[in-house]
Amino acid sequence: MRQANALTIDVEDYFQVSAFAPHIPRGDWERMPCRVERNVDIILSLLERADAKGTFFTLGWVAERYPQVVHRIAEGGHEFAFHGYGHHRASDQTPADFLADITRAKKLLEDISGQSVKGYRAPRFSIGKTNPWAFACIRDAGYLYSSSVYPIRHDHYGMPDAPRFPYQPLPGLTEVPVTTNQFFQNNVPTGGGGYFRLMPYAMSKWLIARVNTIDGKPAMFYFHPWELDPEQPRIHAAGWKSKFRHYVNLHRTEQRLKRLLHDFRWDRVDRIFLGAS
Ligand SMILES: [Zn+2]
Repeated sequence: MRQANALTIDVEDYFQVSAFAPHIPRGDWERMPCRVERNVDIILSLLERADAKGTFFTLGWVAERYPQVVHRIAEGGHEFAFHGYGHHRASDQTPADFLADITRAKKLLEDISGQSVKGYRAPRFSIGKTNPWAFACIRDAGYLYSSSVYPIRHDHYGMPDAPRFPYQPLPGLTEVPVTTNQFFQNNVPTGGGGYFRLMPYAMSKWLIARVNTIDGKPAMFYFHPWELDPEQPRIHAAGWKSKFRHYVNLHRTEQRLKRLLHDFRWDRVDRIFLGAS
């Protein structure tokens, strides 16, 4: 049997990404044309055809408005996990507000999905040196794991000296970082995001396979539903850098994902890293 890797999807719509937050007030979210339902359906059918399972880190805002999306994810045998209620970065919240947000949402998501929610991923990997208290909040809210650290150098997130593979930041909680490769003491992004759209597919494939063979570990990969949607409405007010990162190669993602699903075996985070059956 091939090594299984963890496939993760951050379920948020194109207008909820952090880079566009200064240009789209939260009060406008209700008025934006919704693409997330259609895009999650495309992902679910790609996964079904490839016999792959994954973990869907979902915004509370999306789950509340589109419970049918949550039901379809659960019916497909996928793991349902949490990605913050309204995509507030953990680092922008006080410990009390953060704990209240993730505790309330866990109950909400469990009621909608009928699954126990074990995993949490901070929006924009916003746990780092400035807010290590967040790990205690995640554990105290009843989650078993977090996937909130990307051990790379990046202008908006990342903790380059964090461990590259799962570790316990404190007893009772596992942190599962997004996968990197290490070359000459530098960590190279391997686990998805904009890099997957920017790099040639062969490079992504080689990097993931290298983690499986050289490190002998499963990889953790992530992407967003809007990355498969070249027809999404454009946010013209955003800066050129944000627009480049958001829109580059959107038309190529679906084909690349098909190849990724074919070239590796994929499963849920709780099965790969927590030994769930
Ligand atoms: Zn997000």
